[in-house]
Amino acid sequence: MQSKFSRIVVPTDFSDTADSAISAACDLATYYRAQVDIVNVVDAMVYAYAGYPFASLSAELTTGAEEALRKLKLPASAKGLTLNRFVLSGTPAAEINAHAERHKADLIVMGTRGHGAVARFFLGSVADKVLHSASSPVLITKASKGKVKHPKKKTKPFTRILFPTDFSETANRALARAVALTEDSDAELFVLHVVDDTLISTHVPKERELILKELRRAALDEMKKGLPAHLLQHFETTGAVKRGEPGKAIAAYAETHACDLIVMGSHGRTGVKRALLGSVADKVVRLAKCAVFIERGK
Ligand code: ATP
Ligand code: MN
Repeated sequence: MQSKFSRIVVPTDFSDTADSAISAACDLATYYRAQVDIVNVVDAMVYAYAGYPFASLSAELTTGAEEALRKLKLPASAKGLTLNRFVLSGTPAAEINAHAERHKADLIVMGTRGHGAVARFFLGSVADKVLHSASSPVLITKASKGKVKHPKKKTKPFTRILFPTDFSETANRALARAVALTEDSDAELFVLHVVDDTLISTHVPKERELILKELRRAALDEMKKGLPAHLLQHFETTGAVKRGEPGKAIAAYAETHACDLIVMGSHGRTGVKRALLGSVADKVVRLAKCAVFIERGK
């Protein structure tokens, strides 16, 4: 195993999407022999109206959460795992991140949305906040629609992995992760760079074509440099340069190539340092139909 996960945190609000995140977390934990922390956060402040008996309410909610966690129906893959349940109280995203830090978890696995999310939002507010402030990598899972199509038991976590790169330092860290996950799963690795053509200033068509052609060649060269030799064997089919809007193009590429995981950096080349999550990463998490692993930069 190239990737090491020894403690995986999976927050739940008891929604269906959280259940599929738990299931994904248990599969990964089984594969990597990691332990799993299932965490629910009671946010009693939501009910803290003036005059409300806050302390007793909080205690009641906590008891309720403990019971719900105890009764939680776990996937079959949870058998044989070291699995602990925690009820925390406070602001959900902050508590989830603090728990992960306190216990030196190496991964947070969560769904895109929970009970609270309004249907028109692609990402719930807790997932959004965790993604923006976690110091560990985060794997965002998508709820599988209906019954799983392949009844054959999946023995490896991933089969086709996409690594989108802008050649930044964080993207390179994500590359190391993508390569490790690819090897662990015996998967296929696709590498993609998107040329954001709104950034090419000239509007003379001939010049645009020339610039794009140059960029394409340079990008392909750069992509090859970062890959271990054995993954270069099919580079003509697994390395690609597309033009368009990066976030959209990355999500679309993953879909047309039936990828089940996108591994990317939390930051890239173009961002403001103080932003907690780059806009391309943010967009991909919202648009992608498959799971997205966000590697953290320094
Ligand atoms: P922003 O672009 O919002 O100003 P940023 O550059 O710090 O901020 P992102 O662009 O979101 O952050 O970069 C996050 C990750 O997205 C990168 O590590 C890389 O994996 C991927 N990425 C970004 N831009 C591209 C691109 N043009 N083509 C392919 N992958 C990209
Ligand atoms: Mn960027």
